[in-house]
Amino acid sequence: MAERKPRLLVTRQVFPEVLEYLSSRFELDTNQDDAIWSREQLLERVRDKDALYVVTSDKVDAELLAAAPAVRIVATGSVGYNHIDLMACRARGVVVTNTPDVLTEATADMAWALLMATARRVCESEHWLRAGHWKRWAWDQFLGQDLFRATLGIVGMGRIGSAVARRARGFEMRILYCNRSPAANEAELGAHRVERDALLREADHVVLVVPYSSETHHLIGARELATMKPTATLVNIARGGVVDDAALAQALRDGRIAAAGLDVYENEPALDPALLAVPNVVLTPHIGSATRSSRLGMAMLAAKNLTAWLDGAELPTPVVPKA
Ligand code: NAP
Repeated sequence: MAERKPRLLVTRQVFPEVLEYLSSRFELDTNQDDAIWSREQLLERVRDKDALYVVTSDKVDAELLAAAPAVRIVATGSVGYNHIDLMACRARGVVVTNTPDVLTEATADMAWALLMATARRVCESEHWLRAGHWKRWAWDQFLGQDLFRATLGIVGMGRIGSAVARRARGFEMRILYCNRSPAANEAELGAHRVERDALLREADHVVLVVPYSSETHHLIGARELATMKPTATLVNIARGGVVDDAALAQALRDGRIAAAGLDVYENEPALDPALLAVPNVVLTPHIGSATRSSRLGMAMLAAKNLTAWLDGAELPTPVVPKA
């Protein structure tokens, strides 16, 4: 009797070429509908699976692993893995893979898109124009903040932070950053490592690109926002929860900082209504990596991790957390 193929659960719609690649090696159970499975449905679907192909909104914790006793690999189609309990995976002998590098440049471009839209009030002025308010040109209409030769503060100078910094060199910006340890490429980037408060005090524009963890939860809250310049802009391309969204909405309302550009939110896809009510914020729906080549690269890299695992080969991109 032929041996059965390992069973793989694919929790979210994925590109057809990726499904085709996986279908030759796995028995697939896929969610190709627009509807998202509830937690209960997910717990039911994982029950008989050997492998999981997940996205950032799928919480892989001890409860889910207990419901899926045969699972030995979790491949996430993201570089961030804060939705996966690594300790619980390790305790059950489950390996975890992610998708670094393939999304770095697209995400850095999006950080810049938010930065420029925010600093130069692109969305705010467009809404005003569409609403029919534009009756005359005026010297002081929608004055924004300079980017050229301004000071950029990058919180998290890793792969994406470095790509953001490389683009900043074209704008002749002074680049400050903070990491827990010095970045090996700081000389090449012309970047200076400073304490977080010094960065917040001195930067004209702050970009957040740190992973979410208990250490980075509310890294930017009311105190940090009060430390920033009143003319400063803030971009969060990292993860929801790195910023205290309620404190940010209050700071924007009070003019304690000039503006913000956000791609990620604490309870996404739900948004703090206070954020929707302030005009000086640009909001995008977690599309940092959303170019076709980047998203296809991520989806295929997650699939290649799964087939490498099946072959007993070296995994292309296993998650190896920093000690
Ligand atoms: P990475 O190469 O691992 O870089 C993360 C950087 O953050 C490292 O330089 C790290 O340096 C620093 N860091 C970690 N903890 C820190 C802390 N507590 N304080 C200050 N710095 C800290 O990761 P990446 O590929 O650049 O991705 C970064 C994050 O971006 C991902 O984890 C993901 O959540 C997010 N992301 C979002 C999107 C989107 O669609 N919006 C797309 C891609 C990625 P040290 O270890 O020295 O501190």
